[in-house]
Amino acid sequence: MALTALLSVSDKTGILEFAQALHRLGCKLLSTGGTAKLLMENGLPVTEVAEHTGFPEMMDGRVKTLHPKIHGGLLARSDVPEHVAAMNQHGITRIDILAVNLYPFEATVAKAGCTLEDAIENIDIGGPAMVRSAAKNWKDVAVLTDAAQYAGVLAELQAGGISASTRFQLSVAAFNRIAQYDAAISNYLSSVQSDGSLAPYPGQMNSCFVKVQDLRYGENSHQSAALYRDLFPAPGSLVTGKQLQGKELSYNNIADADAAWECVKSFTAPACVIVKHANPCGVAVATSPAEAYAKAFKTDPTSAFGGIIAFNREVDGAAAELVSKQFVEVLMAPSFSAEALAVFKSKVNVRLLQIDLPPGGDTAWLQGRNAGDSKRVGSGLLLQSADNHFLKREDLKVVTTLKPTEQQIDDLMFAWNVAQYVKSNAIVFCGGGMTLGVGAGQMSRVDSTKIAAIKAANAGLELKGSVVASDAFFPFRDGLDVLADAGASCVIQPGGSMRDEEVIAAANERGVAMVFTGIRHFRH
Ligand code: 5GP
Repeated sequence: MALTALLSVSDKTGILEFAQALHRLGCKLLSTGGTAKLLMENGLPVTEVAEHTGFPEMMDGRVKTLHPKIHGGLLARSDVPEHVAAMNQHGITRIDILAVNLYPFEATVAKAGCTLEDAIENIDIGGPAMVRSAAKNWKDVAVLTDAAQYAGVLAELQAGGISASTRFQLSVAAFNRIAQYDAAISNYLSSVQSDGSLAPYPGQMNSCFVKVQDLRYGENSHQSAALYRDLFPAPGSLVTGKQLQGKELSYNNIADADAAWECVKSFTAPACVIVKHANPCGVAVATSPAEAYAKAFKTDPTSAFGGIIAFNREVDGAAAELVSKQFVEVLMAPSFSAEALAVFKSKVNVRLLQIDLPPGGDTAWLQGRNAGDSKRVGSGLLLQSADNHFLKREDLKVVTTLKPTEQQIDDLMFAWNVAQYVKSNAIVFCGGGMTLGVGAGQMSRVDSTKIAAIKAANAGLELKGSVVASDAFFPFRDGLDVLADAGASCVIQPGGSMRDEEVIAAANERGVAMVFTGIRHFRH
């Protein structure tokens, strides 16, 4: 007996060719208003759903296919005699193939200025209902929710029929699509109030992810991996970037690139950040990108090898020339000049990423919406809002008899900014708008301090008169003694230790000025 296919799609891509092929295979075609019109205009014999059910489409299309003749045709099991009897009794035709894609809810709400009313009208009701019916009854119905599935299904039909395993896979894909669609609706509606205005952040911590790509492997080659992005990515975030050239990004590239990009975009002056294994190994601000890079590179030339480099200004020819002298995995910037692109043209393996900086103005709501941070713990998930606290000069509390100069405060603010992006325990020596020694990821703060000083010495950098940021308080005076021994003149740290008095006394004794921030930046 001839198969029946119901086609009802908002995105008409490929549907005409699919319908023509089905027709050639002898399928009977059923379709909704807009889809039916397209097929008829192209000379295909189509029965409109309204004619099939005896009910017109109504209420601006809100009710098109919500009818027992449709859902009975999708849900009836061919192996249950009562189902078959019910179909016969009520004149219900079996629907063997269903192709549906939904009202473009995601695209609608992603548009600037989308109103609550626009969003609501773009919530598809009948489409997901049919998809669910067909997907539940996968043994009898093949359900297609994506134009990319048309060719494979046609090939199987031409070869004699759609296999059970394909119908099952289509069903799984259909439920995935519906889950994603519902999550997008829930995500959007959670971010607004009934008058259409934005709900105060944090609202609900629900999120909807869209797959960007499978990755060759994860952190190690025996791990599989993929990259997903938020349905509504924060403007200026890594996933909004475009790769201009180079090999495919790896899992580790993406993780490190994110660390570099988040750090570099927090500076207003021209800045350069070099990251290795998720930690900045060189950060600097200067009057030009080339100068910023030259300074950042000096911090730790050994670690910079194979690094991930980010700029918050256009990479010009001068900066590109300098960077191209080192082995670089990924280079990121808001733009690249023609000269810079020419420099990297022959270095085909260098991955160049163009990422727009977040726009100014009132976009905090949009950023806030995506600002959740998550981490897997066994079979659990830890969620928190992002660490996006930015310190102001007036928040600093000087706790020593010696007061820092304005220049030292500039350097302290820079050092604090960098420390926010260094894994705990973080100790960052800085001076003259650049990092001089970075101690990262140690289990003891005093070890991080020693390592930072050793790295500065290895790079031949002078720590006398430097400033130091510590991402959390010093629990004892020993860390402070190490940095004073190394030559530091000023320290910025949260304060709040039981032994603050001991640490302040040590700073006074060693002639080091110290300021408290009252806030810490653990990063694990
Ligand atoms: P067409 O362009 O063919 O008129 O409409 C196709 C769209 O209508 C598809 O996106 C499909 O999911 C949707 N659709 C099908 N039946 C119904 C229904 O009963 N109610 C609503 N709101 N949408 C439907």
